[in-house]
Amino acid sequence: MKPAQFEHHEPETVEEAVSLLESLDDRAILAGGQSMVPMLRFRLAVPETVIDINRIESLDYLEEDDEWLRIGALARHADLEESALIDEKYGSFADAAPLVADPQIRNRGTVAGAIAQADPKGDWGSVLLAHEGEIVAHGPDGERVIPASDFFLLPYDTTLDENELVTELRVPTPAAHEGSGYHKLKRKVGDYAMAGSAARLVLDEDGRIERAGIGLTAVDITNVRATDAEDHLEGDEPGCEVFKRAGELAAEQSNPESDEHGDAGYKERMVNVLTQRALSDAAERAGLVKRRVSQ
Ligand SMILES: Cc1cc2nc3c(=O)[nH]c(=O)nc-3n(C[C@H](O)[C@H](O)[C@H](O)COP(=O)(O)OP(=O)(O)OC[C@H]3O[C@@H](n4cnc5c(N)ncnc54)[C@H](O)[C@@H]3O)c2cc1C
Repeated sequence: MKPAQFEHHEPETVEEAVSLLESLDDRAILAGGQSMVPMLRFRLAVPETVIDINRIESLDYLEEDDEWLRIGALARHADLEESALIDEKYGSFADAAPLVADPQIRNRGTVAGAIAQADPKGDWGSVLLAHEGEIVAHGPDGERVIPASDFFLLPYDTTLDENELVTELRVPTPAAHEGSGYHKLKRKVGDYAMAGSAARLVLDEDGRIERAGIGLTAVDITNVRATDAEDHLEGDEPGCEVFKRAGELAAEQSNPESDEHGDAGYKERMVNVLTQRALSDAAERAGLVKRRVSQ
């Protein structure tokens, strides 16, 4: 099917884009188009105007400063996949990037677009939640920062205002002893997750878990944090037993649906296993654990 006719705007600045959002009623933002174009083609979205943000060069970056890893709204999945910085310091991002869709989609699709799309099967939402990341949005009243844990409302629905543009995703730069990991179960290469788990651990100087973050994929109506498992981990030493219990708690807190790929009980068991694996990678990458913590 062909998309219905629409006006095409290509703003070159964030301000121009926000002013278009404010002045036009029936419009949609287009970034990498990997979700938007199929929605247009199947006429699931029939906007009068498409605001294409690809010419806003100031949004095309992936960088780190003293406080944050900053992912501009035009950073593509492939930018993260190919980044030496991500590879070296952000384990869960490095794990997730090559697992998103296929190379064609990763070359065009943006990480921010995937977050704005808010598909509960999306991988980046879990990673952002595990890292206690934030979404930076620009609207008519200026900049607003939304914690990832306050962003996802329902499938494809967020707390972003209709006149706001996501301009940046950011996560805190790693502490001295911090590591993270992401594991995903899918039927075949290129598929969305049947289940996924992102874990981040911050250890203190004695090797105890000071802070834990766990984000789950495809097992609830949005990407969700496994807060019971996080609470269980904090204050303890990384190890098989504590990870095993965290896996069980994450599974208990998940709420998957049965479908043609697996029943809910199977997916819960997968959440348990994937969470233990992600925690094990996170602990190893945090640096104070002498040998691999395996299940
Ligand atoms: C076959 C297929 C397989 C896929 N597999 C996976 C997978 O395994 N894992 C995964 O995580 N994802 C997967 N995806 C989703 C993919 O990650 C997203 O389609 C894509 O990256 C969304 O980003 P985009 O830049 O293409 O956004 P677009 O398609 O351009 O936009 C998506 C939505 O977000 C809005 N939007 C985009 N950018 C902004 C912004 N800056 N501010 C506000 N709103 C914005 C748009 O208006 C639209 O509603 C898959 C998609 C397809 C088609």
